[in-house]
Amino acid sequence: MLSGISVSPGMALARAFVLSSESVKFDRSPVATEFIESEIDKFKNAVAGSVIQLTLIETHVREKIGTDKAAIFEAHLMLVEDEELSEAVIEVIQTQRLPAPAAVEQVIDEHVSAMEELEDEYLRARAVDMRDLGQRLVLNCLGIVPQSLETFDNEVIVVADELTPSQTAVLDSSKVTGIITERGSRTSHTAIIAASMEIPAIVGVEGVTAVIKNGDMVALDAEHNLIIVNPSPSQSDNIEYSREQYMSELRQLEKLRDLPAQTGDGVRIKLVANIGSPTESGPALSKGAEGVGLYRVEFLFMETTEQPNEEMQYQAFKSVVDDMKGMPVVIRILDVGGDKDLPYLALPKEDNPFLGCRGIRLCFERPSLLLCQLRALLRAGVHGDVRILVPMISSVDEVRRFKEFLAEAQSSLEHDGIAHAKKLPLGVMIETPAAVFLASHLIHETDFFSIGTNDLTQYTLAVDRQNERIADLFEQLSPAVLLGIKHTVDAAREEGKPVCVCGQMAGDVHSALLLVGMGVEELSMSPVHIPRVKNAIRQHSRTRLREIAGEVLGLATAAEVKMKLNKYWG
Ligand code: PEP
Ligand code: MG
Repeated sequence: MLSGISVSPGMALARAFVLSSESVKFDRSPVATEFIESEIDKFKNAVAGSVIQLTLIETHVREKIGTDKAAIFEAHLMLVEDEELSEAVIEVIQTQRLPAPAAVEQVIDEHVSAMEELEDEYLRARAVDMRDLGQRLVLNCLGIVPQSLETFDNEVIVVADELTPSQTAVLDSSKVTGIITERGSRTSHTAIIAASMEIPAIVGVEGVTAVIKNGDMVALDAEHNLIIVNPSPSQSDNIEYSREQYMSELRQLEKLRDLPAQTGDGVRIKLVANIGSPTESGPALSKGAEGVGLYRVEFLFMETTEQPNEEMQYQAFKSVVDDMKGMPVVIRILDVGGDKDLPYLALPKEDNPFLGCRGIRLCFERPSLLLCQLRALLRAGVHGDVRILVPMISSVDEVRRFKEFLAEAQSSLEHDGIAHAKKLPLGVMIETPAAVFLASHLIHETDFFSIGTNDLTQYTLAVDRQNERIADLFEQLSPAVLLGIKHTVDAAREEGKPVCVCGQMAGDVHSALLLVGMGVEELSMSPVHIPRVKNAIRQHSRTRLREIAGEVLGLATAAEVKMKLNKYWG
């Protein structure tokens, strides 16, 4: 039996699809002259095979997932059909007598290095595609069909070291019934995506890629944080039974969809959704979300091979705003850097990326990147209730500087005669200890707060949220974090301004009840968690939750906090 960190609820029983992270080994020594022609044939067949695979994937992704994500594979197709590339590989086979995969590797490496040196961002972005395509061609030269997460004939549980954003972007959620990864944490990219796609997932499972073999039967129970490899018939029956129970609980909870999240004593709590793509608006609404509390735009920027232009951003924002039909949509300014890279921005390596040029700091460093987003946001603001959220704030100066950019975007739209909102509510993420300490100043500069408990925990406790070695120190219920939240909530409420919690904590039933007891009236979470949190809120009175929160805030350790919450809420 294995376990890790459960990050997306539910159960699954299916065969494992183990995504290999090892690079393939092959002989690079020159071949005898008589084999040159057959190596050229191998290469040509690899190109033909790649074209077929990519066409199938592109069509599938376009029809099932969306045109924006299909663009990744369109780009690969264009590259593989490029005659110059083929000629270069054939020349290397002929002149250096290299076997086909080695010739491909050499030519691709040269192209990638040259592209990475280019000034032009668009062309630099092509380097990532080129590398991806190179891997496909090498595998095809070796007669290995590259693994793909876009098309499965049967249900699978994907087992991997870690999933990259482009892999998760095209994951076929109708066939992928579970995800298990060796790396990752409660707040890592895979965790967020799995929850948003409602795929049961356990991450941070040490040694899992060595233990589970392709085709093994796997029982995944993300409710109880359990993984059983090749379960016995009775274990399989148990998991099927639990899955039935879970589904029936979901059906029960569905009945609450149109009921308000209101405490027993009549306090209305607003439950909104964390989303990462316009396609998630529908699922959010179907879970009863009353708007979007956090639209993480990073995924929009990660799914493409070049920076999405203003029109693309505007269309994505507008689509969410339209879907939400007048309900609020909080759109966060790009928060890359840290663990999220964008190859086309060619971000320099940093020793401490989470303390580096991340979030708003990066946006200030690249004014055109920020202005383009702001123009798209202001334009989308014409269509509904759009609110702007700024990540990684650690000083009042940053908010003031941000407002200058906002004014500049405003006047440029004015100048261009393009319809846009004259003023949008502006909020900041409270996710650094500095922002907590400055809360009473920051609230004067802004219209609302959104507490990012994932980063607030990371920065308060000085625990890298990605580092599984210290995952047990990443304690969102640490009294240090709770006191920071309380201070922030009080600062906002004193000014009569709204404060939301949008970190993973908001989606956990015990933590959500505690937050309501601490005075939070808005919680933003992966839609999958909304029904359970709503159900819990409806069963408690705020007066009682406040008393319990009062007791909890006096405790000294996270263990005591958890014990107390378990005592009251089971
Ligand atoms: C957070 O830090 O809590 C948060 C919501 O933002 P992200 O997880 O995207 O950093
Ligand atoms: Mg954050």
